Amino acid sequence: MCIFCSIINGEIPSYKVYEDENVLGILDISQVTKGHCILMPKRHVANILEADDETAKNLMVASKHLAQTIVSKTNANGVNILTNCKEAAGQTVDHLHFHVIPRFDESDAIEITFNDSNITNLEDIHTLLTK
Ligand code: 5GP
Ligand code: ZN
Repeated sequence: MCIFCSIINGEIPSYKVYEDENVLGILDISQVTKGHCILMPKRHVANILEADDETAKNLMVASKHLAQTIVSKTNANGVNILTNCKEAAGQTVDHLHFHVIPRFDESDAIEITFNDSNITNLEDIHTLLTK
């Protein structure tokens, strides 16, 4: 059984911050900023690519609500909601989860930067993605 399923089953303790019929939200054990939470579907699915639409919707709506609560309670100036999908994208626990990460200032221990690439052929990419 995966580690998040063990948390959902109560076999591993966690700090619960959100729960509904389908989704559990807990404090991330490694707080990248104060209030960093993760939300996961109660039914195991490996990642967003494998999730059914209902599961994806449930997680997104729960993330919005939890983000509103976290921002309000921590007085954050912003929030990142993100999911890492597969090892190449940084996923370390293969049970779908969304991170909700309140953001305060430049001293936050997280940096999301879109660096310049040499990729400029939008026409080809558009064709690739849509044809
Ligand atoms: P990923 O890298 O897969 O996007 O994120 C996995 C997250 O799960 C990490 O931020 C990590 O700190 C968190 N995590 C891993 N194991 C546990 C645990 O046992 N309890 C809690 N609360 N968080 C965990
Ligand atoms: Zn699981």
